[in-house]
Amino acid sequence: MFDNLERSLTVAGSIEEALAARKQGAAILAGGTWLMRDERRGLTLPQAFVSLHAVPGLKAIDIEDHQITIGAAVTHEVLGKLLAGIAGLEAVTAAATGAANPAIRRVATVGGNLCTTDFAAADLLPALLAIDAIVELQADHVPLCLPIASFLANRRDLLAGAILTRVILCRDNLASAHARLPLRRAGDYPVAIVSVALTAERQIRIAVGSVEHVARRWTTLEEAFSAERDGRPASGEIAASLAAQCNDFEGRDGIEADGWYRRQVLPALVRRSMEALLQEDAAR
Ligand SMILES: Cc1cc2nc3c(=O)[nH]c(=O)nc-3n(C[C@H](O)[C@H](O)[C@H](O)COP(=O)(O)OP(=O)(O)OC[C@H]3O[C@@H](n4cnc5c(N)ncnc54)[C@H](O)[C@@H]3O)c2cc1C
Repeated sequence: MFDNLERSLTVAGSIEEALAARKQGAAILAGGTWLMRDERRGLTLPQAFVSLHAVPGLKAIDIEDHQITIGAAVTHEVLGKLLAGIAGLEAVTAAATGAANPAIRRVATVGGNLCTTDFAAADLLPALLAIDAIVELQADHVPLCLPIASFLANRRDLLAGAILTRVILCRDNLASAHARLPLRRAGDYPVAIVSVALTAERQIRIAVGSVEHVARRWTTLEEAFSAERDGRPASGEIAASLAAQCNDFEGRDGIEADGWYRRQVLPALVRRSMEALLQEDAAR
């Protein structure tokens, strides 16, 4: 139930304005698809909000030869459309176009997906981990850029006084793929997610989402892959069998699935994502 308290919304025209509102206790309001359901989760809705939508550049995607810069207020729908067909970014495109449902994708933002600290099933996180994206935060005048893995390792503390402003994707990956398992075809949170990327050095990065509370790289499997001939498994089947041997995840129990089930579906998702990756690489 909603309470009757009056709430305020500031539409920031600059990062400085947004930071000033943040310092006074306002919560960042992006698409609102998560935040506006706080009360349903038994949390108190914040008193004050600040929107980033009018901050110049934060709704834009800048595509350059060597990198792509994505503003925090870009929606999943726009992200999926603008990245479609870009080699190396297939995992991010699939994460943006496959998450949630069309109505949510129309409003849910990149910043919201990365900053919802109590949401374990975010699709963009493993996709961005696999391609080793950089996250830009701003807490004062100087932006801080750090690898997404470092951001996730310390996300709550970093966001306590900062705003996520941009995500930067280097265009040095050769191919990538994203496999997810929702219990129904659409609308459900994914039970488990696997994203894979083939780097310029022809190594494979693997990241897993929704199985534990925070997405992370699967480094033991990356090592097992690199010990194979040519530095990678020759088929999806071999990849799945290696995944079954080095499954070091602690599955989290949740409404959609138990932890053991999330762990158990990982080899199948590794097979699917690796088959797609090997196919993309062969087609280049
Ligand atoms: C029915 C349903 C199904 C869904 N299914 C999926 C799915 O399959 N896959 C998936 O990935 N997601 C899914 N989601 C989650 C959805 O993607 C998230 O709700 C969304 O990512 C949050 O984005 P938002 O822009 O609406 O953020 P908001 O709800 O506005 O904000 C979420 C949190 O992030 C903070 N925040 C937002 N932007 C910033 C910023 N730039 N800097 C600092 N803090 C910030 C806010 O203060 C708040 O704490 C689903 C949601 C719903 C409602």
